[in-house]
Amino acid sequence: MSRKRKIDAVEPSGHSCYWASCRQPGDYKAPKPGGAPRDYQWFCEEHIVQFNKSWDFFAGMSEAEIYAFQKDSYLGHNPTWKVNHQASSMHQRMNDAFGKLFGEGAGFESVQVTLPRELRDALAVLDLEHPTDKDSIKSQYRELAKKYHPDRNAGNKLAEEAFKKVTHAYQILMSQYSEAS
Ligand SMILES: [Zn+2]
Repeated sequence: MSRKRKIDAVEPSGHSCYWASCRQPGDYKAPKPGGAPRDYQWFCEEHIVQFNKSWDFFAGMSEAEIYAFQKDSYLGHNPTWKVNHQASSMHQRMNDAFGKLFGEGAGFESVQVTLPRELRDALAVLDLEHPTDKDSIKSQYRELAKKYHPDRNAGNKLAEEAFKKVTHAYQILMSQYSEAS
C-alpha cells in the first residue's frame, strides 16, 4: 500500500479527538474517509496512529468508492439476498475499521441495500422488484418463458430475443436469491 497518510503534527487545533469516547485534544488531522479533499477530522496522537492503520484499508479506493461503501452495502437487511463472500467480508472489514475509528456500532447499519447492476437489470427483465425469492422468480419466469417460447413464436425474431433475455435473467436471479423463508 503506497498511499499511507503521513502524520501531520500541527499547532493545538482547538478540536478534540474524534475517536469515540476519547477526551484528548485532537491536534493531528486526517482526511475524512469519503469527505471532500480538504475535509479533515482530528485525532489525538494515539488515535491518529490507529487511524492510519485503518487507512490502509481505504488505500487504493477513490473517495467516491469510499463514500459509496459508507452509504451502500451489499450486505442486505434482507434474508433472501444472498451476499457473495467477497462483498460480505469487505463489509465486515469496513465495519471493523469504522468501529475502531468511531466506536462500536459505528459504520453503516442504516444503509439502503444497493444491488449490483447485473441483478437490477435481471430483475427488470422479469418485471420483479427486490426483495423477492426463488418462488416468485420461478413463477414469473414460467409465465414469460411460455409467452416467448419458440414453439409458440415460430420465426419471430423479437420473441426469440426476448426468450433468451428472460432465460438469462432467470439464471442470474436463481443463483443469487434463496428460497422463500
Ligand atoms: Zn484520541
